[in-house]
Amino acid sequence: MLPSTHRPAYVEVSLDNLKHNLQSEINNVPKGTAVFAVVKANAYGHGLVRVAHAEVEYGASGLCVTTLDEALEIRNSGIKVPILVLSITPVQHAILAANNDISLTIGSLDWLEQAANENVSNLKIHIGVDSGMGRIGFRNKDDLIEACNYIKDNPDKFVPEGLFTHFATADNPDKTYFLKQVARFKELKSDLPLDFKYVHCANTATALWHQDLAINMVRFGIGLYGLNPSGTDIPEVPFELRPALSLHSELVFVKEIAKGEKVGYGATYTSDKPEWIGTVPIGYADGWLRRMQGYDILINGERCQIVGRICMDQFMVRLPKKLPVGTKVTLIGKDGNEQITATDAAKYADTINYEILCCLTDRLPRIYK
Ligand code: PLP
Repeated sequence: MLPSTHRPAYVEVSLDNLKHNLQSEINNVPKGTAVFAVVKANAYGHGLVRVAHAEVEYGASGLCVTTLDEALEIRNSGIKVPILVLSITPVQHAILAANNDISLTIGSLDWLEQAANENVSNLKIHIGVDSGMGRIGFRNKDDLIEACNYIKDNPDKFVPEGLFTHFATADNPDKTYFLKQVARFKELKSDLPLDFKYVHCANTATALWHQDLAINMVRFGIGLYGLNPSGTDIPEVPFELRPALSLHSELVFVKEIAKGEKVGYGATYTSDKPEWIGTVPIGYADGWLRRMQGYDILINGERCQIVGRICMDQFMVRLPKKLPVGTKVTLIGKDGNEQITATDAAKYADTINYEILCCLTDRLPRIYK
């Protein structure tokens, strides 16, 4: 689906803030540590191809995605740096990955054997190790050693590029489970019969708060986009994170309603006095969740309340006075002295900032400044 450019509703991405966040992280890790920018899920809503190129220009050593399709889209757009697919790719696509110099995550010997049977050659692989996330990867040392030996015995087929794990609680001030995972990862990765170019376990939370675990590569995701992975200001971050995304629209219709009149589906809102009501052309089909009913947006530097239910494509807002059609509104971002971040919106909707960003659909054009 093409973005709707004939409607005043758009996502604005600050390239300066993307650059600041990435380069701060590059300066934050020990020299020689590769910072891979995580651009999966349409670069967390910021736009896959444009952000991938920006991150490479600003110094990312590689890119992480979650599907082979995302990897192919950026490789075909001219990206030359390593691209790692973080999820398991069905084995029948191994040759396609190898032919496009895309690195795949491996979680079982069985997968390797099937890929070998398909006559794959020179496939770059990162071995996933499940140290306690309970999602994908080797859990048992004997199985891991067997897989390493298999890779070693098939040097034309597989290039052992990486070994990694993923932490479940790196943003939690209670470190008990995190440290358990760290110990398990250390145990699993010790004395393996293979060497890997990259050994990595750090997402944003680990990279920010457990810098000793950067090893020689980090996978930096939400921090790139300027948001705190914990969804709070705690723990404190070692450098300023600058939110890169804002979401804007305009009033497309303005009217006065009398006291006692209703607004929106279900007629859930009743005015208790005569009020000016504006209509904004964004709805849950754009990713502005139905749960945002009752939350605020910014108009002329003031917070204004959303009234009535969020519709699929529109919602209504109570205005402080009559305002002209075409008045700019900000759903995420700054206006005057007021700011609403994706983290604020997430708190209101009882979710996480990641979800607010990823829900923003392709119907919204992305504008880069
Ligand atoms: N690494 C893996 C394996 C992931 O699944 C993710 C995101 O879900 C990341 C890194 C990036 O995480 P974050 O956005 O918290 O930095």
